[in-house]
Amino acid sequence: MPTETVYGIAVDAMNADAVRRLFSLKGRPADNPLIVHISDPWQIAQVALELTPIAARLAERFWPGPLTLVLRKRPELPSEVTGGLNTVAVRRPRHPVALSLIGLLGRPVAAPSANRFMRLSATRVEHIDPNVAAGVDMILDGGPCAVGLESTVLDVTEDPPRILRPGGITRGDIQAALGGPLSAKPRSNGRRSPGMYPRHYAPETPLHVVDCLQPGQRGLVFVSPANPGQIKMPLDPVAYASSLYDALHKLDGLRLDAIYVQKPPDSQDWEAVIDRLSKAADGA
Ligand code: AMP
Ligand code: MG
Repeated sequence: MPTETVYGIAVDAMNADAVRRLFSLKGRPADNPLIVHISDPWQIAQVALELTPIAARLAERFWPGPLTLVLRKRPELPSEVTGGLNTVAVRRPRHPVALSLIGLLGRPVAAPSANRFMRLSATRVEHIDPNVAAGVDMILDGGPCAVGLESTVLDVTEDPPRILRPGGITRGDIQAALGGPLSAKPRSNGRRSPGMYPRHYAPETPLHVVDCLQPGQRGLVFVSPANPGQIKMPLDPVAYASSLYDALHKLDGLRLDAIYVQKPPDSQDWEAVIDRLSKAADGA
């Protein structure tokens, strides 16, 4: 299904067999939890024990939209969904097709990105891996995803809340809504959140982030392209995020030796983009 962030593989979150099939289709480790998507705010009670006042305020302000809240899990939700954790990640997406699908099912939907584990997410149906496409019953084409990066994952079981994965809703947006700061440092425990694996969101071609590209190098630039294999990217972080995966899928399709990405500005607005580029990058 399309969402405003990236395409997701949707299964009934209450069906443990379906969830297990989903993990094997993605090649995703079983301890890597899924985001549960709801269409109506009341459905939160089907998967989470409680909506704390802070969580309620954030849901009110940012849902439907690219903010995922980590809450305490209800025992009825299969533990396969949460990778055995006692918390559950919940989001109410904004895309009308996702909302209709979940609404028609009438149950919460677990939906990780429609790619193989560690690979680039799909922001258009053309990006979906053929093996993933062959393993699902149906693909709903909702056109390009507007946000283009995965949701912000926020752990609201802690006070102050902590960003586990930066995304479509910025740290500044959340701090403004709460009227106070978030925890500054991400958790060092890499299991806490799948997006916290050191390598993730990666094209098959080795990717390097550099200050500026040499004239012969292919990749993403902010300046005038020096060759046809250079793609000029927007200087606005929201517009950049929206076209990033499409640009990387295109370059990946060229089977280059390497993709070079000109480093974005080192400011808070770019946190999610910088996070994805550093995880996509090949070591040093
Ligand atoms: P994706 O690979 O797009 O499905 O991303 C799933 C995201 O869900 C990960 O990056 C995690 O941050 C998040 N997640 C899901 N469940 C939990 C949980 N119980 N605790 C923390 N993070 C979670
Ligand atoms: Mg993913």
